[in-house]
Amino acid sequence: MKKNLCLALVASALLVPLGASATAVTDQMLEKASSNTHEVLSNGLGSEGERFSPLKAINAQNVSKLVPAWTMSFGGEKQRGQESQPLVHDGKMFVTASYSRIYAIDVKTGAKLWKYEHRLPEGIMPCCDVVNRGAALYDNLVIFGTLDAQLVALDQDTGKVVWKEKIDEYSAGFSSSAAPLIAKGLLLTGVSGGEFGIVGRVEARDPRTGKLVWVRPTVEGHMGYTFDKDGNKTENGISGTTNASWPGELWKTGGASTWLGGTFDPKTGLAYFGTGNPAPWNSHMRPGDNLYSCSTVALDVTTGKIVWSYQNTPNDAWDYDGANEFVTFDMDGKRVGGKADRNGFFYVNDAKTGKLINAFPFVKKITWAKSIDLTTGRPVYDDAVRPGNPAASADGKKGTVVFAVPSFLGGKNQMPMAYNPGTGLFYVPANEWGMEIWNEPVAYKKGGAYLGAGFTIKTVNDDYIGALRAINPKTGKIVWEVKNNAPLWGGVLTTGGGLVFYGTPEGYLKAMDASTGKELWKYQTGSGIVAPPITWSDGTTQYVAVVSGWGGAVPLWGGDVAKKVSFLEQGGSVWVFKLTK
Ligand code: CA
Repeated sequence: MKKNLCLALVASALLVPLGASATAVTDQMLEKASSNTHEVLSNGLGSEGERFSPLKAINAQNVSKLVPAWTMSFGGEKQRGQESQPLVHDGKMFVTASYSRIYAIDVKTGAKLWKYEHRLPEGIMPCCDVVNRGAALYDNLVIFGTLDAQLVALDQDTGKVVWKEKIDEYSAGFSSSAAPLIAKGLLLTGVSGGEFGIVGRVEARDPRTGKLVWVRPTVEGHMGYTFDKDGNKTENGISGTTNASWPGELWKTGGASTWLGGTFDPKTGLAYFGTGNPAPWNSHMRPGDNLYSCSTVALDVTTGKIVWSYQNTPNDAWDYDGANEFVTFDMDGKRVGGKADRNGFFYVNDAKTGKLINAFPFVKKITWAKSIDLTTGRPVYDDAVRPGNPAASADGKKGTVVFAVPSFLGGKNQMPMAYNPGTGLFYVPANEWGMEIWNEPVAYKKGGAYLGAGFTIKTVNDDYIGALRAINPKTGKIVWEVKNNAPLWGGVLTTGGGLVFYGTPEGYLKAMDASTGKELWKYQTGSGIVAPPITWSDGTTQYVAVVSGWGGAVPLWGGDVAKKVSFLEQGGSVWVFKLTK
């Protein structure tokens, strides 16, 4: 009798989740996510990050008839900095919000199904607002990172926590805001905290349990490890050379945070992570290239080995984080990757080898370098635009002030670009601004800002800061541009309908003709947009969605520019659009 009861319980435990749960998200589904028009299964609309949908029910001829289908507020008192890309699966939308919140929404009606609000401790240290950029789906789980540097996996149907793992100490400056990446059955994440002298790394976990599989630091000299199922770690012999490209002990607190996460190309089997600034910002304290800061690193997903790296800004002195997304695409019969770097140059690298194929400016007034030498792959610096060494000043306290373009908030920052294989163009949300910057002495203190620099961001044009630019990766030509008064901080979506969608801090979601840049439609969402739009079709109707809610780094760090945009109102809501009859 007892045995039968036990069996019955086992049977029901097996049957209930099978009967009620969502369709499990598999590796096969994720590897084909870029061509799945019925769902949005990953960040980037496919792990390659092209942000292209072949859908064309909404197109240049009819986009003017786009109207709201529903909207949902994140609620709460703390509405700000909504940088999230929603996911759509099995009739549900999963969307993260500021302060480490996540919602499941009925994608037809906009009704909230469940929400999870992560309990954040006092003393979290996100550098650039309380943002989150999205979740990952795997099996029946939805997984996201939190501002206190944890990963949380929830059941897609119930919102119940299935596992929770700490990435690192938030009190040392670690946090997590990027969308996790799934590649070859592993959950790949980076870390935020480059302004606090943390050491960047890429981690691979079992997405079903959260247990570590391997970890690969992104500062030369630090050990990488492989973990067995009991959590015992062994050095995996992929740790680089201690001290190489770093003076003295600086590598121990070397930065190179992997704060924007990564992309994965099933065609190369490699995951691509960008790395942030070397720490501290004062470059005179760390002569050398400071590997692997301000770089793209390509990792073998199975082992964590860095297969190649390419450094966009060796010995960075301007906080030109190389964190930007490496978007893989086909060019001249080759698999390559495009990256619009924070330093103002657009790079095209061979996706398999890292060899530099092309590099050109995508903002117009770059001063720190004259060009990128395609033979050596290195920037041709203008030494007069490197902030001066404070040690060489009269009192040793402040080096020469220089004016550098772009500002440290970058020719492009966290807002993802899109690539349309139909037009062969990248659509890059760019910003034209500069900064006064100077260096000061600084010493590392755990949990303290580790910059050794002061700065003020300034405008460089009277009429605009932001510019959405259509860029030909082969020629480097800007095919069209649309200027924007405020700095652009949201991402881009492009479609087979010949459209480009993007949001502005002024609150508009806009649709442009992908070939000409002509504005075809816009809608005021009630707060600034700093997030990338998505699209999907339920089989009969195509939808476009975006999150609205002003915030992010600009109002916090923008100097003179922050004053210019202080009239913008904060918010937090999801908007979904469809064509009216
Ligand atoms: Ca940085």
